[in-house]
Amino acid sequence: EQGQPDHAVITTCAYCGVGCGLKAEMKGDEVVRMTPWKDGKANRGHACVKGRFAWGYATHQDRITTPMIRRSIHDPWQPVSWEEALTYAASEIRRIQSQYGTHSVGGITSSRCTNEETYLVQKLIRAAFGTNNVDTCARVCHSPTGYGLKQTLGESAGTQTFDSVMHSDVIMVIGANPSDAHPVFASRMKRRLRQGAKLIVIDPRATDLVSSPHIRADYHLALRPGTNTALLSALAHVIVTEGLVDEDYIQSRCEADSFDAWKAFAMRPENSPENMAEVTGVPAEQIRGAARLYATGGRAAIYYGLGVTEHSQGSTTVMAIANLAMATGNIGAEGVGVNPLRGQNNVQGSCDMGSFPHELPGYRHISDEQTRQQFEQEWGVRLWPEPGLRIPNMFDAAISGSFKALYCQGEDIVQSDPNTQHVTAALSAMECIIVQDLFLNETAKYAHVFLPGSSFLEKDGTFTNAERRISRVRKVMEPKSGMADWEITCALSNALGYPMHYNHPSEIMDEIARLTPTFTGVSYERIEALGGSVQWPCNEQAPEGTPIMHVDHFVRGKGRFMVTQYVPTSERSNRKYPLLLTTGRILSQYNVGAQTRRTANTHWHAEDILEIHPHDAEDRGLKTGDFVTITSRTGETVLRAEVSTRIQPGVVYTTFHFPESGANVVTTDNSDWATNCPEYKVTAVQVQKV
Ligand code: SF4
Repeated sequence: EQGQPDHAVITTCAYCGVGCGLKAEMKGDEVVRMTPWKDGKANRGHACVKGRFAWGYATHQDRITTPMIRRSIHDPWQPVSWEEALTYAASEIRRIQSQYGTHSVGGITSSRCTNEETYLVQKLIRAAFGTNNVDTCARVCHSPTGYGLKQTLGESAGTQTFDSVMHSDVIMVIGANPSDAHPVFASRMKRRLRQGAKLIVIDPRATDLVSSPHIRADYHLALRPGTNTALLSALAHVIVTEGLVDEDYIQSRCEADSFDAWKAFAMRPENSPENMAEVTGVPAEQIRGAARLYATGGRAAIYYGLGVTEHSQGSTTVMAIANLAMATGNIGAEGVGVNPLRGQNNVQGSCDMGSFPHELPGYRHISDEQTRQQFEQEWGVRLWPEPGLRIPNMFDAAISGSFKALYCQGEDIVQSDPNTQHVTAALSAMECIIVQDLFLNETAKYAHVFLPGSSFLEKDGTFTNAERRISRVRKVMEPKSGMADWEITCALSNALGYPMHYNHPSEIMDEIARLTPTFTGVSYERIEALGGSVQWPCNEQAPEGTPIMHVDHFVRGKGRFMVTQYVPTSERSNRKYPLLLTTGRILSQYNVGAQTRRTANTHWHAEDILEIHPHDAEDRGLKTGDFVTITSRTGETVLRAEVSTRIQPGVVYTTFHFPESGANVVTTDNSDWATNCPEYKVTAVQVQKV
């Protein structure tokens, strides 16, 4: 603590998808402390250790505050003026386009930036660069959610408010560890569990939800990594064959043909719990018990995380979850639903804002002529009608020589994306990389232009959390570099010759509202009038927002069941790589740690640890604290081991918060069949004592 505050500003946490309202208590332009905002609707007066200390990174000595350029990545950085940096970046983009073609360049938006900033980056790429080669870091986390929920329910978003969990009788948590990754929501969920709600946990690892002093899961289905779809097929089999489907709901709310096809699929003997017990490692009786509880235990809600999406069948599993919820009538009311727990604060928002290469804001396909014309009229340009490259396609194209320049805002792709060697080979093959970030991160080692970005405390805007809640981000201090991220994107666009002028981020939101049907009622005035946040859709039909979706009918009309056949991942363990590695997060650190490693949080946890079961440790002569090499088909790194029964035999677990260990050195190029979301959760490895 640095003294008594003289004023306070209410803003929104820039870390996880809970999107807590925070009160920045200030003395002059210095933050004295951050406390939870008692009126925040997402957090109801609570905040976790990450949010409370988040201001530390904003004022950290590692912040870069001057633009820099260099002709070669082997040269030292040269500090230059904003004008020189932006002119150089723009001239390099245009040089490369004239030499290699319009589509030889692209950009990546960040879920850590505001909606307004994300919107501007995709506008810059589409309108000023003239290509749809724009993608978001959501590609590597929740892109299967966007695909799977759109296919089945008609909208790429979670169905509930966080408060809804207080009405649930049964809570199913799949591939998520909310106690560490979404702690404030986890507290609310645990309150409901202590009141008597039943709990099913589907996870290879025994998170604290499985067993802690006041919480004990009724079922922990500790499946083998990579078998989610098989397990969900077995749950569906029990629900169908034991007559536990909600026939009335299905008849009135869902497509009959798709239900019939799904029912026939679910009934197949291959999907029986007995058969899938072999595949998943979960005893058949546990599967039967969990299915009965979910279908008959009252209002049942599913919460899921990256343990669902980051698989070769990530999209399939999301659809399998939606199938279960529709089959049991668990969508469209309080206490039920399908709820993706978003890893970053603005994953939902970055997707809403048109960051995917095939979609304009509001999830409308770039090939749709009417939609394109609307944007062309507003933006005053002709838009390319075909989808652009996804992030992994950009890397592949760079290596094959057709993709030459990248604008990367707020994302450390070298540390966060899978198969680090492939990523760095792609970056090394490009001629111009523009990194916009707070710090000289791992990706900046390959960059030619560094544009110093701004933290969440240095700008106005909005974030959209996992419950579709658009919350205001408010400036508490001036940008350290002189420009907020939205101003940098505008300046780069102007340097490229495509004019972009806004006096304030509220004007950007007004433009978003003009162009996006689910946002037509959103403005800063409306958000203030509604107490600082609103859940989209917010439009003429729902002027005060939409807490629960799909209430009378699904967004797509009738709910659509999808056949979700289990297909094993090609990543297999064998004698050389006998263990399966899966990854996750811990409470005090956040993603690649660029922010939390520069706050007081590092006092609690200062390195990535490899969890290994006592049997596997004994085989290798390991004890807690030993250093080990972890080797996969793609690479090798060194970590400290912790012997733990939280993880099952044959499986090891680590986090990816520290560049020194760089867990993604060992992860592979395998990805979801529909969206290319990487299969971070299954890597065959060997572990040996150093
Ligand atoms: Fe809230 Fe998540 Fe921020 Fe913690 S990290 S304060 S739970 S938004």
